[in-house]
Amino acid sequence: MADAPEQASTSAVNTEPWSRVRAVLRAPLRSLPSRIILSVFGAALVTSLAVTLVSTSSIESFLRRKIDQKFPATLSSASERLDLWYAQRRLDIETFARSTTVIENAAHMNLAEGALKRGRATETLGQYLDYVLERFPQYEALLLLDDQGAEVLRVGTDLQLPPGLLLGMSQVAASSLGGVHPVPGGRVQVASSPIVDSGGRRLGSLHALIHGQAIVPVLYDDQMGEAGVIYIVDRSGRTLFQSSGSAPRADFPLALPAPGAETLVEDYTSSSGDHVVGSAVRFARFGWTLVVEESYDEAFAPVVAVIRRILGINLGIVMLFGLAAYQFARSIVRPIKALSEGARRIADGETDVVIPLPSSQDEIEVLIRVFNEMSQRLRKNQGELERSRMEIQRANGQLVSQNEELQRVNEVLEQLSITDGLTKLHNHRFFQDHLVREMRRARRTGEPLALILIDIDDFKTLNDRHGHAAGDTVLREVAVEMNSVLREMDVLARYGGEEFALVASQTDLDGALALSEKIRLAVCEARFELDGVDEPATVTVSVGAAVFRGDEKELFRDADRALYAAKSQGKDCVVVAEEPSV
Ligand code: GH3
Ligand code: MG
Ligand code: MG
Repeated sequence: MADAPEQASTSAVNTEPWSRVRAVLRAPLRSLPSRIILSVFGAALVTSLAVTLVSTSSIESFLRRKIDQKFPATLSSASERLDLWYAQRRLDIETFARSTTVIENAAHMNLAEGALKRGRATETLGQYLDYVLERFPQYEALLLLDDQGAEVLRVGTDLQLPPGLLLGMSQVAASSLGGVHPVPGGRVQVASSPIVDSGGRRLGSLHALIHGQAIVPVLYDDQMGEAGVIYIVDRSGRTLFQSSGSAPRADFPLALPAPGAETLVEDYTSSSGDHVVGSAVRFARFGWTLVVEESYDEAFAPVVAVIRRILGINLGIVMLFGLAAYQFARSIVRPIKALSEGARRIADGETDVVIPLPSSQDEIEVLIRVFNEMSQRLRKNQGELERSRMEIQRANGQLVSQNEELQRVNEVLEQLSITDGLTKLHNHRFFQDHLVREMRRARRTGEPLALILIDIDDFKTLNDRHGHAAGDTVLREVAVEMNSVLREMDVLARYGGEEFALVASQTDLDGALALSEKIRLAVCEARFELDGVDEPATVTVSVGAAVFRGDEKELFRDADRALYAAKSQGKDCVVVAEEPSV
C-alpha cells in the first residue's frame, strides 16, 4: 500500500512527455499565424519540390540525350584520329626508308666497299637518322636491320628488343606499324619499312621504335574535357593506354562490343566502385577496343548544379513568402487579440473599453469600429441603467420610510383605539375583548380567572367640591396608584366614568381578594395634590370581585353585585362574590 503513491507518480511522469509531445504537435495548428505560415510554407515547399523534380528530370534526360550523342561521337573521332596517326607514322617511316640518303648509304654499307666508304656511309646515315630523331620526339630509337634481323645501325636509346621480334621486324615486306610490345620500363610500337633501291634490290629495313605514351595525346578529346577518359583495351580486356588518369584500369564490366556493333551508352559500377557512364567501340586496327568513361556525378554535374540553384532560389522564395505570411498573420492577429482582450474586459465589467483603430481600411477596421460603437452604447446603457437603479433605490427608500411611518401611525391609532384618553389605561372596548379571550382560555385550560370591579367612592361630591379638572386629575392619579400594585399579567381598564375593571388571570377567589385589598389600600393611602386645594385630597374605592365559573355573563354579574354590596356595606371595602352568588 505504501508503494501506491510512488507508482502513481511514476506513471504520471511517464505519460507527461507524451502529452507534452502531443501538445507540441497540436500547438502549431492552434495559433492563427502558425497556421497561415505553415500553409504558405507548405505550398511554397510543395511547389519548389515539384519544380525541382520536373527540372531535374528534364535536365537529366536532356543530358542523357547529349551523352548518348557525345560518347559515340567521341569514340568515332578518337578512332579516326588514331587511324590517321598510325597512317602518318607508317607514311613517315616509308618516306624515310625511300629517301635517297637512306637508300644510297644503306647500299654503301651493304656492298663490299672499302671500309672507309662504309664508315662514311654509316656516319652520313647516322647523321640523317639523328636529324630525323630530333624532329620526331615520339621516336625512342631508329634502327636499321639487315634481313637476318641484325642491327646495322641504331640511333636513339639502346632499348633492347627480343631477337625473335628483331627477326620478325627485318622480314617486313611493306611499310607497316606493329602492335604494342612490352619492353623494360614501358611499351613500344614499331613502325617498319623495307629499304629497296631503284633496281628493286632489298637493302635491309628501317624501323622506328615509337614511345608507348606517344599515342596518349592522340586520345585526348576536347569534347570530353577533364572528366572523361578514353581507354584503349586489348583483346584480353587489359588497358593499354588511357587519355588521362594515373591508375590504369584492370577490367571493364562493359561488354566489349562485337566489330561493327552499334555503339551504346551504359551506366555501370566500375571496378573501383564508382558509378560511371561509358561506351565502347571496336578499333579495327589491332583488335583493340576504345572505351570512353565518365564519372556519373561529373557527367550529370549540371543536374546537381541546377538542383542547388533551384533549391537556393526556392528557399529564398519560401523565406520571402514565409516572412510576408508572418507579417500578414501578425496584422490580422494583433487586432483580433486587441478585440478579444477588449471583449474580456467588458465581460469583467469594464465599460470604458476603446480599441485603437488600425491604419488599414479593411474588414478588421470595420469590425473594430463596430466593436467600439457597441462598447460605447453599452457604456451609455449602463449609465442609464445605473441612474434608473439609483432612482428606484431612492423611491424604494422613500416607500420604506413612508411605510414605517404608516406603521407607526397605525400602531398609535391601534393603541389609541384601545386606550382611554384620560387615564391611559385600556378602554372599555379592549376590556370586553380581553375578558372574552381570557374566559375562553380559562375554560380551555381550567386555570382560575378573576374579575375585579373598582368604583371611586363619592366622586360626584369631589367633582362638585373641587371642579371637574380636579376630578380628572384624581382619575389619572388613581389609575397610577392602582397600576403600581398590579402584576405583569393583570389588565386594568377604565370601564366608564369613575369605574375601573381588572381582569386577573390565573387568580382564584383568595388571590382576587388579596389583590382587591392591595388596590383598595393603595388608593386609600394615596394623597392627591389638586390645583387650588391646600390640603392633599384622599380618595377611597369600593371593590367587588368574582371568579369565573364557566358562565361568561354570570362572572360580570357576580362582580357587579359584589361591588354593589361593597357600596352598601359603607364603601372603602372589598366584597368577594362567594359561592353561591348572592
Ligand atoms: P357613590 O359613592 O355611590 O359611587 O357616589 P358617587 O358620587 O361616586 O356616584 P355617582 O354615580 O352618583 O356620580 C358619579 C359622578 O362622576 C358623576 C359624574 O359627574 C362624575 N364623572 C363621571 N365621569 C367623569 C369624568 O370623566 N370626569 C369628572 N371630573 N367627573 C366624572
Ligand atoms: Mg359609579
Ligand atoms: Mg362612585
